[in-house]
Amino acid sequence: MNRLRTRFLVVGSGVAGLHTAWRASEKGNVLLLTKRSLFDSATSYAQGGIAAALGAGDSPELHRRDTLAAGAALCDATAVEVLVEEGPTRVRELQAAGARFDLEPTGRFRLGREAAHSRKRIVHAHGDQTGAEVARTLVSRVRRSRGIKVLEKARVLDLILHRGRCVGVRASVQGEATEIVADVTVLATGGGGQAYRYTTNPVVATGDGYAIAHRADVTLSDMEFVQFHPTALDTPENPLALISEAVRGEGATLVNDRGVRFMRKLHKLAELAPRDVVARAIVRQQRAGHNVFLDARKLSSTFARRFPGILALCRARGIDPRQDLIPVTPAAHYMMGGIVTDLCGRSDLERLYAVGEVSRTGVHGANRLASNSLLEGLVFAERVARDIVGIAELGAVPAPGKWRVPVLVDRGAAQVAADTIREIMWRDAGVIRTAAGLRSAQRQLREIERRLPVGATEELNLVQTAQLVVEGAIARKESRGGHYRSDFPRARSAWRGKHVEL
Ligand SMILES: Cc1cc2nc3c(=O)[nH]c(=O)nc-3n(C[C@H](O)[C@H](O)[C@H](O)COP(=O)(O)OP(=O)(O)OC[C@H]3O[C@@H](n4cnc5c(N)ncnc54)[C@H](O)[C@@H]3O)c2cc1C
Repeated sequence: MNRLRTRFLVVGSGVAGLHTAWRASEKGNVLLLTKRSLFDSATSYAQGGIAAALGAGDSPELHRRDTLAAGAALCDATAVEVLVEEGPTRVRELQAAGARFDLEPTGRFRLGREAAHSRKRIVHAHGDQTGAEVARTLVSRVRRSRGIKVLEKARVLDLILHRGRCVGVRASVQGEATEIVADVTVLATGGGGQAYRYTTNPVVATGDGYAIAHRADVTLSDMEFVQFHPTALDTPENPLALISEAVRGEGATLVNDRGVRFMRKLHKLAELAPRDVVARAIVRQQRAGHNVFLDARKLSSTFARRFPGILALCRARGIDPRQDLIPVTPAAHYMMGGIVTDLCGRSDLERLYAVGEVSRTGVHGANRLASNSLLEGLVFAERVARDIVGIAELGAVPAPGKWRVPVLVDRGAAQVAADTIREIMWRDAGVIRTAAGLRSAQRQLREIERRLPVGATEELNLVQTAQLVVEGAIARKESRGGHYRSDFPRARSAWRGKHVEL
């Protein structure tokens, strides 16, 4: 068993982890752990962009209003204020750090528009490859920072607790059992979309941070709020490729296999209605036996210029959006809930921080406004980095325990368990939920957890994350934001402003 010691330990290499590591390294040594490579993250996949009030006629106040409206009375007003006020500065800093965002000939940001934003405020790069540009920029900063040591193929298994504080983690570093002792541990492990059969999330998004924190009795909240992106490319892949909202923003419409443009009579914003409204409408079409398509044919030449990445991924699958309809389905995309933190990313376990999608800062409430999550990652990572430098060094910690990385004895059984979890979650805890479905999911997930083969540590995180979602969804007897129960199809005043803490 190896033991390492660091001042700051950052787990995860998405926007939140990379930014935290980069900024904290100016004040102390950082060890950055990531499960696969530095670029394996949801961040690298982000297409649409980063929302920030940078355009003429826009303001943090307008951005604040849109964010609160999407959050359906569950946002933390102060956290939202922090997000929208500090956001523009963080985006400009990222540009100064080398991010090549798309610009107008005047040098101003070329801004896009997305659903439920009252203004054009989406900063993007290379058309639709914003996340890759953010990751490239931050990875190059991290690589250039002398104070950061990076360990790839390093998967955190659990926290180490001592006298009610987090003093580091147990990890499998390239298969070797490794204990890392740190003055501060920052979980930036991203979301858990892999708990669903249809998801846009990369295979690393197995909810590790939620499960690891839950096992250590750290408070999580709002886990029932999962955002389903309405338009993933409907293919038999995992993850599904995303067709960004920005495509609808540019005028593409949704039609069923009879050519009916069904969103028009369901919402005044039609295809640009909030994501949950559009996702439900598509699922209802599917349940009625229809296939659903995005019709972007009228964008013709604009498509290639504005969405080169999406064009390439469609064409790789034999679809040319300039001539063909694009088959789409909703898919699990983002988890609004997570580890409850304050405005500096502190969890309720001393010396444990959480940032990015794994955290619940309160900026998203019941539903995330499109393109607010990269922004949240940047804004709160900066706050975490500024806060942790003030944390005193740890005193003595106990000698390392004797343990080994459990060996996965039956990979086939673990895969079957993961596939079953994903099916159950899609059917019973997906876009449209009921009490009966959720109860049945709860029973089945418990049984799966009980029977997991030895060494299935990632599947354990998946099934525990799934159970947290289901528990939250059972408790919340109403519909709000990303959580919809057909047995309680409306928001109820008794639940306004209330959170399910787990
Ligand atoms: C296809 C797609 C498109 C999107 N488009 C947008 C967009 O346009 N705008 C926007 O704002 N948001 C978008 N999002 C959401 C956004 O990308 C994510 O919410 C955000 O990038 C999360 O950043 P993060 O740093 O918290 O986590 P991630 O970027 O997911 O990074 C998590 C990191 O933690 C690592 N990790 C996980 N578990 C462990 C473990 N046990 N041990 C070690 N490492 C671990 C992972 O390998 C990864 O490196 C999109 C998401 C997807 C999937």
